[in-house]
Amino acid sequence: MNKVLIIGAGGVGSVVAHKCAMVPEVFGEITLASRTVSKCEAIAAEVLQRTGRTIATCKVDADNVAETATLIRKTGATLLINVALPYQDLTLMDACLEAGCDYLDTANYEPLDVAKFEYSWQWAYHEKFLAAGRSALLGSGFDPGVTNVFTAWALKHHFDEIHTLDIVDVNGGNHGKAFATNFNPEINIREVTAPCRHFENGDFVETPPMSHHQSFTCPDGVGTYEIYRMYHEELESLVKHIPTLKRAQFWMSFSPNYLKHLEVLQNVGMTRIDPVSYNGVEIIPLQFLKAVLPNPGDLGQTTKGKTCIGNIITGIKDGKNKALYVYNICDHEACFAEVGSQAISYTTGVPAMIGAKQMLAGTWRKPGVWNMEQHDPDAFMADLNTHGLPWNFIELPVENALTLKVADQ
Ligand code: NDP
Repeated sequence: MNKVLIIGAGGVGSVVAHKCAMVPEVFGEITLASRTVSKCEAIAAEVLQRTGRTIATCKVDADNVAETATLIRKTGATLLINVALPYQDLTLMDACLEAGCDYLDTANYEPLDVAKFEYSWQWAYHEKFLAAGRSALLGSGFDPGVTNVFTAWALKHHFDEIHTLDIVDVNGGNHGKAFATNFNPEINIREVTAPCRHFENGDFVETPPMSHHQSFTCPDGVGTYEIYRMYHEELESLVKHIPTLKRAQFWMSFSPNYLKHLEVLQNVGMTRIDPVSYNGVEIIPLQFLKAVLPNPGDLGQTTKGKTCIGNIITGIKDGKNKALYVYNICDHEACFAEVGSQAISYTTGVPAMIGAKQMLAGTWRKPGVWNMEQHDPDAFMADLNTHGLPWNFIELPVENALTLKVADQ
């Protein structure tokens, strides 16, 4: 019987716990551990109510390698699913190596004191995982995650060479709050305020944050939104593993209201990540801001609308130019009805479960440290359809793909 340890009892952790519990033939024994054990217990109670399954709960400090290694041994887990924060990636990888356990996460490592995220730190663990005969899967959320698998699937079945990739992440949902982020506010704001980097002709090109944007009409009536080009971590691994890419960009939708609030928060210094002395206590403004913003895990109740995330890909097949759009549409209210979460947590937690399933089946369990696009995409793509994230694809005229026109305006 497979035993898994999930670390992190936030919005995503709750979905992972529910979805693993719904596949008992793969996930035999589940332990959910986090810094605050009461959050694990609340999720376990919901999982029991919705699925009839009991999951174990535990307190752990994921920054502490020895403590986490002890917990891995105690639970007998052979796979650790890290849905804590990116700051914990390296300590959790160390704990897995120490206790002899495979590793999976949904976001790449970021140091706490520098808003910089890149794969170099985690790729540096490849030899250690190889030597230990252990496997690590990086970025098994939606983006990164499904977007990497969409690209690998398109390359396997529809292209001889891929030349351009535009990942478009639209959240057409409305949570009814004045301002809130869809996932952990600290990580979200660090990401959207970072300079934009996109890949063009062999190099990453840097431009100011949010400086390039355009209108995007989603298919299937999801609506038209303004999307902003920004840096996202899967660009780094995809251009490395698919060297024929000439251009790779990532786009995300933001409402005027979100941008207005973000601008003010930035202007008054509330997004700073350096310590500020207040009444003799050192506080990090962005961490304080997180404490006063709505908890993304609680937005499910009020969020209505859909997400639409997909890849627009151009390239060559049999000597001819070709373009494809592969995408998923996910309904916030349907996610809430199923697992009590909004679609952002859902679209991250479901692929984490599916990635874990591939690793436990052995098909994605190669020793070393791997990104999603390095594995065969087919079983993962099939599982998306059966576990709540059905996808679709349409062939496009190449000019439309290059101008990001996938639906009628
Ligand atoms: P939350 O802030 O809701 O949850 C994070 C959880 O991790 C909390 O329960 C928190 O603690 C726990 N945690 C933090 N530090 C520690 C620690 N030192 N030891 C133990 N537990 C700790 O975040 P989300 O659920 O929104 O996001 C989870 C992850 O998913 C993030 O890494 C995020 O970047 C990633 N993500 C990935 C996406 C993708 O598509 N690839 C999309 C969205 C998110 P506590 O128990 O005290 O609450």
